[in-house]
Amino acid sequence: MITSFIGYEVSERIATITLNRPEAANAQTSALLDDLDEAWRRAADDPEVRVIILRANGKHFSAGHDIKGVGPRAASNGNGAGPKWTLGGIYETEAKRFLEYTLRWRNIPKPSIAAVQGVCISGGLLLAWPCDLIVAADNAKFSDPVVMMGIGGVEYHGHTWEMGPRKAKEILFTGRAMTAEEAAQVGMVNRVVPLDELRPAVRELATQIAQMHPFALRQAKRAVNQTLDVQGFYAAIQSVFDIHQTGHGHALSESGLPILTLLDDMKTAIKK
Ligand code: ZN
Repeated sequence: MITSFIGYEVSERIATITLNRPEAANAQTSALLDDLDEAWRRAADDPEVRVIILRANGKHFSAGHDIKGVGPRAASNGNGAGPKWTLGGIYETEAKRFLEYTLRWRNIPKPSIAAVQGVCISGGLLLAWPCDLIVAADNAKFSDPVVMMGIGGVEYHGHTWEMGPRKAKEILFTGRAMTAEEAAQVGMVNRVVPLDELRPAVRELATQIAQMHPFALRQAKRAVNQTLDVQGFYAAIQSVFDIHQTGHGHALSESGLPILTLLDDMKTAIKK
């Protein structure tokens, strides 16, 4: 255990990181993300660890960013009139927790596997996507309904790479969830298993990979990631992060808030 939010254990060359905020569907606060980053660093630095599993306690993998708990701190305006959101503040917070963290997890030189059950919404994708492999329970649903909030997609805009351009547009335009099977069809998910077999299936896969030579695993991962980077992945992720920020800027100019839609709409989306 690292904190109450994040479980961490190592056995048989496999590090298992567990999101542990099930009462909130593993919605991500700043503290949870900082603890999660510490767990990834620990696994990366431990020479005993050859494979990393990311899983989640409870019914759902992650309902995304906890907007009350992870949002950029609005600075006081200094005259007692309450907090004032600024684009600079939003950019600073999101660049660290929603872009830098996710990219770093993606590039850790060890194979990683995400085990996803239940909902994986918006910020939840930023935890699953950086993993090299994704195994989904048959009840998993993947969505990014932030167009409902006036923004063109989550901060780390992996949709096009993960789903292909047409499916990415459909999912973004409609805000609907993809089933596990659909996610497997587009190549976003490696395999789909019954919910009660999720953890053993991921463990078995990790055990198999952990038998391989760690340097060769590192080279194989680097080869694939580097190929994507040469194709423009890194540059696209960086530039679309800035497009995302224009969404916050637009929302601020329209409403004075970082997003346009009421939080209730997000709650409704989570329940779907
Ligand atoms: Zn944002």
